Amino acid sequence: MNSAVISNYGYDALFYHLQLKIFPATQEVEGQLVMEAKSEADGLATVPMDFYANLPVLNVGENAASFARSGNVLNLTLKQAFQRGQKFRVSVSYRGQPQSGGFGAFTFNTHSGAPIIASLSEPYYARLWWPCKDTPTDKADSVQVDLIVPDNLTGVSNGKLENVQSANGWKTFSWKERYPITTYLVSIAVSNYAELGETFTFTDGTAMPIRHYVYPENLASAQAQLADTRDMLAFFNHAFGDYPFKKEKYGHAQFAWGGGMEHQTITSIGGFGDGLISHEMTHQWFGDLITMKSWQDIWLNEGFASYGEALYIESRDGKAAYRNYMARFDHSYTGSVFVRDTTSVGSIFNITVYHKGAWVLHSLRHVIGDSTFFRLLRNYVADARYRFGTASTEDFKNLAENISGKELDWFFEQWVYREGRPDLRYAWKWESGQLIFRLQQTQSGNPYRLPLDLAAIAGTDTLRLALEHTGGFQEYRFAANKQITRVLVDPDYWVLKNLQQVDFNSLNVDGTMIPYTFALQPIYPNPFLLNQQPLLVNFSLGRNENVRLTVFNTLGQEIAILLVDRLTTGNHAQPWDGRHANGEPAPAGIYFIRLQTETAQATQRVVVLR
Ligand SMILES: [Zn+2]
Repeated sequence: MNSAVISNYGYDALFYHLQLKIFPATQEVEGQLVMEAKSEADGLATVPMDFYANLPVLNVGENAASFARSGNVLNLTLKQAFQRGQKFRVSVSYRGQPQSGGFGAFTFNTHSGAPIIASLSEPYYARLWWPCKDTPTDKADSVQVDLIVPDNLTGVSNGKLENVQSANGWKTFSWKERYPITTYLVSIAVSNYAELGETFTFTDGTAMPIRHYVYPENLASAQAQLADTRDMLAFFNHAFGDYPFKKEKYGHAQFAWGGGMEHQTITSIGGFGDGLISHEMTHQWFGDLITMKSWQDIWLNEGFASYGEALYIESRDGKAAYRNYMARFDHSYTGSVFVRDTTSVGSIFNITVYHKGAWVLHSLRHVIGDSTFFRLLRNYVADARYRFGTASTEDFKNLAENISGKELDWFFEQWVYREGRPDLRYAWKWESGQLIFRLQQTQSGNPYRLPLDLAAIAGTDTLRLALEHTGGFQEYRFAANKQITRVLVDPDYWVLKNLQQVDFNSLNVDGTMIPYTFALQPIYPNPFLLNQQPLLVNFSLGRNENVRLTVFNTLGQEIAILLVDRLTTGNHAQPWDGRHANGEPAPAGIYFIRLQTETAQATQRVVVLR
């Protein structure tokens, strides 16, 4: 299958009303589609809609006079031409058996002898079962779906259930989605569902139904597994901002496919594991509220949703569980996170997009820091340019730069657009009060820019260090007066890499190594009595560079900035008078002095007495 995307439709789709009658016995659908749209061109006389050629069109109406078919495009000829900005309506009636495509698109199945009929249109297969402008960049303002099904079944779709009517052995379920929605998220699910529900109350007092439609034979197990839905929703509201469709509902409709699909307000789902539920729920923000601008940017949906799984685990089970979860996403990948070939389902929805995409966010969190990272996510969700619309990788990158104040081209280039990961070799030794750490990147192609943490362990003490490796061989020297017995590279597991420890001397093979000496001396004496004299911080630099010297408390809050300057090679000393930035004396206690340069960072702990 190829994408067959039409580049210029000439109109903006505003509203779809789909009436769909479903015949389980013959596996047919009978549809009546009305589209309201606005002309984007002067003299618009023909309206192209995406619609598969195998479904026979019975008639067309409203402003449409006739139709012609060209492959999987249905061209409607209008009764009159419309000018730019003018609204018009067209209708299309059809009946037939939808053919299969993509992840199935529209399937007739059974469970325990009962029918289950469901759609999964992503990426470009809505056109297999209803005529539409099938592109993610044109969201309809609202959609109505009337599902007409045999009266022993329940029909489920997006938004709110407005009406149910019975007549002559058929039941009509009228659903209305009043938030903007893209075509691949319009869904139906029909079965002999049992229903579960509860009310979720937002912090602003809004009450919203949570509604689950499950197979009757799975009711008991589903009830237990779905019990976490409320907690997840509360967590994601807190992390991202309120659930975007809170005037309607959230819920699940069980279907016959193994995974899940984040249909707007109603995820279709095969089973009820926490990972799957949290993944699809995260999509309501990232995928549904903000949809990727093109299928190349699909990591903005799938990387975010996969990362949502890890965030939920972190909130529930803590940091170690979060890191273990990210470890499941650390494996060999093929291709880049940014998708270059969007012609098949297999090339778009490859595991690199999901798992390395989640690692992009994880690593970004390390580069810009926790509070900035979550501020970025909330700002992204709240941004009127993207909310109820679409965003591209570059849009997200630009916002990340604005929010963090950091230039991040290098980050997105090496993690999103580039394939693979860095190969690192390292070695270290402790000698004469110094930790000497050597690092080399050996992968082919350009060096990566790698902010990398180190933990150097000396008995019961851990010296936390950070460096930024920009390629080649580099040697770093850190003052360490106690014997270092172990060095952990990236102890908190923020960076995707292949890592190998090698013999110390083997890493100085060809003389291209750039030595770099950098030391923050231990504070002495320690504990330090601050009433009598200022505390003197001694450090040395291996070259001329920009330096930032700060004091932190045990909560990680920066309480004083001692120095921001460009300094020369050699030894330096900077006093601290024991006061906060606002002039208040800092109380007795534990503090951390941090020296940050362009390439490295070191922290010393000091106990201050008064
Ligand atoms: Zn997903």
